[in-house]
Amino acid sequence: AAPLLDVRDLALQFHTRDGVATVLNGVSYHLDPAEVLAVLGESGSGKSVTAHAIMGILDTPPARITGGEILYQGQDLLRMPESARRRFRGREIGMIFQDALSALNPVFSVGFQIAEAVRLGEGTSRADARKRAVELMDLVRIPGARQRVGEYPHQFSGGMRQRIMIAMALAQRPKVLIADEPTTALDVTVQAQIMDLLAELRRDLGMAMILITHDLGVVADVADRIVVMYAGRIVEQADVYQLYRTPGHPYTRGLLASVPRLNGKGAPLATIPGLPPSLTKIPTGCPFHPRCPYARDVCRSTVPPRVPLGIGRYSACHFAREVADGRRG
Ligand code: SF4
Ligand code: MG
Repeated sequence: AAPLLDVRDLALQFHTRDGVATVLNGVSYHLDPAEVLAVLGESGSGKSVTAHAIMGILDTPPARITGGEILYQGQDLLRMPESARRRFRGREIGMIFQDALSALNPVFSVGFQIAEAVRLGEGTSRADARKRAVELMDLVRIPGARQRVGEYPHQFSGGMRQRIMIAMALAQRPKVLIADEPTTALDVTVQAQIMDLLAELRRDLGMAMILITHDLGVVADVADRIVVMYAGRIVEQADVYQLYRTPGHPYTRGLLASVPRLNGKGAPLATIPGLPPSLTKIPTGCPFHPRCPYARDVCRSTVPPRVPLGIGRYSACHFAREVADGRRG
């Protein structure tokens, strides 16, 4: 079957005072219907920017898309007039933004804000939108929705406010939900509850999701597949199980080593040495080479190809097979 969403070879630059930043360089990923894809990487790797490009909400300038396509059910969103594009936003693809918790307006009731999100899309009456707001609060498992619909954001806990943001993103019944770091501001127990909710919504609504995260541990139970981003590129793509069991890229390996484990019993967490590169000065060859424990001369001179490691699986590393087989590391 054709993918629901297909990002192909997306390239994007920012013009900054320090020169041209290559923010995305040939990013490709797809999303099948009812599939959950996790996009993993450190901040600045291009995860959010790719999502903003999909939503058509980049600041232009400074952002400029210099190549690629974003196909939604076969139609290229990048070559659509803004008026047509607007109809996709919210209605086909909904998004929960990073720092969504601060996006709720303190002076309006949550019911009013959800109802407004409903009314953005359809020619819905105020009364119907109000009714739908209660349904949406039920859908995201807010207890006592009917009683609480008139309450204000500060009367809800952080986890409940995140549920309200999810309800708003679902207001127009999108087929795809993009969630950018949906649990970062929450404590661990509440994080797990939000991830459980997203898993239930996927099951109940048959919705596809893109979960953007810097923390693999949070999304592992919910995601089917993962793409790992580094310096504006995809460095590995795999299903979750394979990626956990046999990471095929040294960067993925480093990220896995830094995930806290419950049985860790105080063992120090390994972290990846160094910092991601400046996007105005991306290293030659493999952009990860200054931080990579396995780097050799070829890594500094030659961009690594996508090495296939199985069906739907690849790693952009000169030594991908050795890394996946555990012969390196
Ligand atoms: Fe490390 Fe070389 Fe692989 Fe890059 S190509 S991840 S530097 S081993
Ligand atoms: Mg981000």
